[in-house]
Amino acid sequence: MHLPDLNIAKDRSSKNNIYIDLKEDYKKAFFGKKYFLRTYGCQMNVHDSEAIRAYLEALGFISTSNIEEANVVVLNTCAIRENARDKVIGFLGKCKYLKKNHDDFKIVLAGCMTEQPDFVDIIMKKHKYVDILIGTHNIQDLPKLLLESFNKQVVEVYSNSDEIIEGMNYERDSKVTAWVNIMYGCDKFCTYCIVPYTRGRERSRKLDSIVSEVKHLKDNGYKEVTLLGQNVNAYGHDIGETFSNLLECVAKTGIERIRFVTSHPWNFTDEMINIIAKYDNIMPYIHLPIQSGSNRILKKMNRRYTKEEYLELFNKMKKTIPNVAITTDIIVGFPGETESDFEETLDIVKKCEYDGAYTFIFSPREGTPAAKMVDNTSLEEKESRLQRLNEVVNYYSNKNNQKLLNKVVPVLVLGESEKDKNKVYGYTDTMKLVNINGGKELIGKIVSVKITDAKSFSLDGDYIKEA
Ligand code: SAM
Ligand code: SF4
Repeated sequence: MHLPDLNIAKDRSSKNNIYIDLKEDYKKAFFGKKYFLRTYGCQMNVHDSEAIRAYLEALGFISTSNIEEANVVVLNTCAIRENARDKVIGFLGKCKYLKKNHDDFKIVLAGCMTEQPDFVDIIMKKHKYVDILIGTHNIQDLPKLLLESFNKQVVEVYSNSDEIIEGMNYERDSKVTAWVNIMYGCDKFCTYCIVPYTRGRERSRKLDSIVSEVKHLKDNGYKEVTLLGQNVNAYGHDIGETFSNLLECVAKTGIERIRFVTSHPWNFTDEMINIIAKYDNIMPYIHLPIQSGSNRILKKMNRRYTKEEYLELFNKMKKTIPNVAITTDIIVGFPGETESDFEETLDIVKKCEYDGAYTFIFSPREGTPAAKMVDNTSLEEKESRLQRLNEVVNYYSNKNNQKLLNKVVPVLVLGESEKDKNKVYGYTDTMKLVNINGGKELIGKIVSVKITDAKSFSLDGDYIKEA
């Protein structure tokens, strides 16, 4: 048994590249059995679930969306805010009930929550029926843990890792767009954030392995890759590389669309901006979280930039990258945030006129410095600030979308619209969702679409021709 420990999670020492392959004698051991996988949280978790799925399917499991017929249920959890925990605990109730009436039913908890000692403690004391808890650093142990049969709960969670995983297999959700992990972990330690503890130190993958993965995806018909990391700008600092060089090498593979998330404003260099502007296959879309418009709060958050520095970077991007769309993340109700701090946040949203923003109420995470800060603002006040912020954010999203009305834009078509079977949906180069009057034959293609209606969160359009 290995239990998580936040002190070990803080350690930032050596690293090591490892290559993973499933043992021959594990393959197809569960032939014909079924798995149900549910993913909570960010793109990183979505991509980890693609690795979990690859392991389960190599073991012979078949996917099911009906939990009642599953033999193994995997919940890939998120720890970023408290409400994510409530959802998982709620869902476990249903799993417990199913397990009572099913003698071949295992419950696995994976993802960031299992890296939190207080969560693991609750599961060990109150949810003994959960079979396996596995951490973010050792997904590769899942086959071994499923194969060994235990009569008790197994907790295999490591709080840090010196491993950089190369050559991981993924059972990807899409045949058109793919996530590509370029680095693991985060060393920024923003005071509110649990990620540096749940995901470990920053570890960059080798540039050659990443470029080979992109070439392989391109050769297999993929049109778009999204380079993934908690702070992609920091890519390479541990291996003598830079993100701008990686971006350029990926652009030269000729894959049609390249995106990346997430960028911390602190070390976004001019070189990166110039490379984005130089290559047509690097999409003109940047997610640039600001978190707050108040310098006092930014300092308490340990964000390492002032609003003036952020604005300078923002304006440089707008000036250098033609037609760039910029979105952001904002937290309201950080401990000590006053009405005047909040008004500074509203002010910066008005100055930046963002294409969109993910907005959150501060959620204290045990073990982080902000969880210990004095917080006198009521939840009611925080909710009212969130609502006021969302009104301003939506106004500008809508304003930006209206600019596209009657214009013809390139859209990568991803699938059938869920609401209307006569429509398909896709994303513009600037990452705007478009519902298109058009048939299934357009899926996987980049097409020209004339925008006929614009709302805050999506656009409607008519198919014109292949782009
Ligand atoms: N690495 C990214 C960055 O630096 O912007 C963020 C990754 S985090 C998964 C996504 C967003 O969740 C953050 O940008 C932040 O706005 C929000 N977030 C993180 N911790 C939070 C907390 N304790 N309470 C509320 N929102 C939080
Ligand atoms: Fe969390 Fe900050 Fe790291 Fe982003 S950069 S993952 S917000 S600690």
